[in-house]
Amino acid sequence: MTTPPIDLRSDTVTRPTPAMLEAMTKAPVGDDVYGEDPTVNRLEGLAAEMLGKEAAVFVSSGTMGNLCSVLAHCGRGDEMILGDIAHIFLYEQGGSAALGGVHPHPVPTQADGTLKLSDIEDAIRGDNEHFPITRLLAVENTHNRCGGRALPVEYMDAAGQLAHKHGLKFHVDGARLWNAAVALNVSPARLAKEADSLSLCLSKGLAAPVGSVVVGDKEFIQKARRMRKVVGGGMRQAGVIAAAGIVALTEMVERLADDHANARRLAEGLNRLDGISIDPETVQTDIVIFNLDREDITPAHLSAGLRSHGVLLNPIGGKRLRAVTNYHVTEADIDRTLEAFAAVLEAGAQVTDKKVVTYG
Ligand SMILES: *Cc1c(COP(=O)(O)O)cnc(C)c1O
Repeated sequence: MTTPPIDLRSDTVTRPTPAMLEAMTKAPVGDDVYGEDPTVNRLEGLAAEMLGKEAAVFVSSGTMGNLCSVLAHCGRGDEMILGDIAHIFLYEQGGSAALGGVHPHPVPTQADGTLKLSDIEDAIRGDNEHFPITRLLAVENTHNRCGGRALPVEYMDAAGQLAHKHGLKFHVDGARLWNAAVALNVSPARLAKEADSLSLCLSKGLAAPVGSVVVGDKEFIQKARRMRKVVGGGMRQAGVIAAAGIVALTEMVERLADDHANARRLAEGLNRLDGISIDPETVQTDIVIFNLDREDITPAHLSAGLRSHGVLLNPIGGKRLRAVTNYHVTEADIDRTLEAFAAVLEAGAQVTDKKVVTYG
């Protein structure tokens, strides 16, 4: 018998809970393209209520949620201001440009995941026939590439108000907004107050097998629903998966605090190891990004070494690696992970002939 690995690659690796599996088998269903799936309708109502918005639409992924939102707000040739390391900019194939002709206007992302209000203001175009029309501001909360930083209420309010002052819509990529709300001890609705739209994942830390929800006012959601259909996202008896999403929203949000405590424990332990650098104070939620400052081993070697000790996590470029705590990772797993780190780093230090040890 082999013990399963401690999987810190992402919070997307979470499998449905027993309560989800039970809800999925019992869910009443109908054809959701006709609006007749009672379980999808319940999930959408619940998501809208939790975010303090009028309506919601269930989509198959966070990428689809962002895409449908951007396409609902912007037409061809319109411009969207967003961060230069935002998920929408980096990891979604440029879908809003490829499929919607929306022009991305990236501005620098600060270490805490925010965009400077002055940078946003400078990026907004004036009325001139040389320019695209700036239509949308998008921010990300929590911020993935910034190590799960939670953008505070004051920033969310200020960014939204700035957008509105200039006649822009304000979209929030809230794949992990639940984590931000728990970390900041505020309601998701409070964080969403100024947002015209948000896309929120059910399939990350909340452990549902599939799905995201987009929320906003009725008119916007009607447009987003049309966009979902054109990208092939109209699902039929989707209540089977929406049922897991309901469990995610009702039972899995508060426990994210455990993931955050485990991430902080991991960060503090890593900070004590020679050759790893991280500021544990910056670890607010479930993502731990750290640097490997060693000549003798690379991030790829470290991750291969950890794998041979039953710990999975990924290098993310340069000297950086990323670990993400989740529902299946316990405090004891964090301590085992730290022991594995110590062992791999120590083995690396024993290399004398300048050749790097490779691990199986
Ligand atoms: C994961 C993620 C997405 C996309 O979600 P998928 O369901 O993987 O398509 C969008 N934005 C952020 C910030 C994410 O972390």
